[in-house]
Amino acid sequence: MENVKEKYLNKVYEAKNNIKKIYLEKDYTWMIGYSGGKDSNVLVQIIIEALLELKTKEFNKKIHIVSSDTLIENPIVLEQLNKSLKLLKNFSIKYNLPIEVHKVSPDLDESFWVNLIGRGYPLPNQSFRWCTDRLKIKPMNKYVEEIEKNGSNILTVLGVRKGESKSRDIKLDNTKIEESLLRENTTNKGKIFSPIEDFTLFDIWKYLGESSLVDFKANNLKLSLLYEDSSTGVEECPSSLDDKLQKGCGSSRWGCWLCPVVTKDKSLQGFINSGNNWLKPLIDFREELIKERDLFKNRYHASFRINKTSKKVTLIKYRFMDLKEKDGVYFLPKKDIREKIIFGQINNENYLINEDKKIKIFSESEARQMIDDKKINPYHENNELLIKDIIVKLDKNLNNNKLSIMGLGPYTLSYRINLLERITDLNKKMKKYDMSLISEQEIIKILDIIELVKKELEKNDYLIKKYTDIKKIMEMNKDARE
Ligand code: SF4
Repeated sequence: MENVKEKYLNKVYEAKNNIKKIYLEKDYTWMIGYSGGKDSNVLVQIIIEALLELKTKEFNKKIHIVSSDTLIENPIVLEQLNKSLKLLKNFSIKYNLPIEVHKVSPDLDESFWVNLIGRGYPLPNQSFRWCTDRLKIKPMNKYVEEIEKNGSNILTVLGVRKGESKSRDIKLDNTKIEESLLRENTTNKGKIFSPIEDFTLFDIWKYLGESSLVDFKANNLKLSLLYEDSSTGVEECPSSLDDKLQKGCGSSRWGCWLCPVVTKDKSLQGFINSGNNWLKPLIDFREELIKERDLFKNRYHASFRINKTSKKVTLIKYRFMDLKEKDGVYFLPKKDIREKIIFGQINNENYLINEDKKIKIFSESEARQMIDDKKINPYHENNELLIKDIIVKLDKNLNNNKLSIMGLGPYTLSYRINLLERITDLNKKMKKYDMSLISEQEIIKILDIIELVKKELEKNDYLIKKYTDIKKIMEMNKDARE
């Protein structure tokens, strides 16, 4: 019977053989999404080992190792990623390997801060996770599309492992091509290859600890120390190439320093616990943002659409959200630090009754008319009363018992300016640790968008409060990220 060590050695042997077989027999350009975490390190090192067993003249297909930098990466993890990429690049040159190493980032217009502060998108969460697509998937897809333009068929090579989640195992099984090491790729015409899918966590750490690639030994050791420091356990942010197969990176501990999608950040806290106290302001800032996300005073009731090319701003004035109802009582549930709000019960005169308060229920056309007549300003800078006093029966709900209130739209301009001041301030503080949180170009872009929105609101007579002191912000940005 095979013992654990033999099993492990067999898996490594088999993975290398499969890699050589697919590389030699199939005509694909290889694309590896490299997160810099433990699984993707094993994947690339095992591929390198396999390549070193081939002859140089057999290196006739390109292998692209691509990482994404969301521009809000955990600084310690990013430093490690950059070192690993450099090592991979130098090693490939040294041994003349057919490997190209790249790092992709979101376009300026799609950066986290431009969306959060410029466009006022509320902080991402489980139900509105706008970040992964913009920060990771799109930049990676753009890179892949460039390669495909040259007529290459893409082989997406993943570091996924079986047994990490049932749903992923099912996806892996469902896409398996009979009698083949490859799977169908549902996003492009290429195929998927996952050479280390049978590796256990034990195998992963054993491989990294015992790597036969001497040049990588120190880096592997550093990586294992980082996992200890961050108390990350096993989770890591998947590369965007395998996002469809991996857990969403919201559950990742190897991703953005600000990731608001997880309720409690363990990664930054782990680094702080192991002595990196300089990271503390980041955790504090992250927690403040999470707490402030759903406060009415920070959000408009309406929203905007901004055409990226024409820069035309369209106001979307009518936005409503449904109330919850239980046993005839209407309410808005508690969310983070926002308390549950009880609106009351409907009486037979079609009013909502809450203790001694009687609230009229408006029809949708009445509510729209009030907005058109400027009796209600859905772009008011702090209009909590509207939430509590404008109860609406929408046309689509005429035949059911649903009631709505004014919606919760993007962040208000005053909150955005406040955010910009705080992140700029924090950016200054972090400079001394060689960390840059936001770039000057991002700030300029943010101010441009804010100015566009402000003008549109002014034009439509919705701007009630004066708040923008652009010069002051520009002053603060002198030291922004290069
Ligand atoms: S790690 Fe978090 S913030 Fe970063 S892209 Fe993933 S879900 Fe979004």
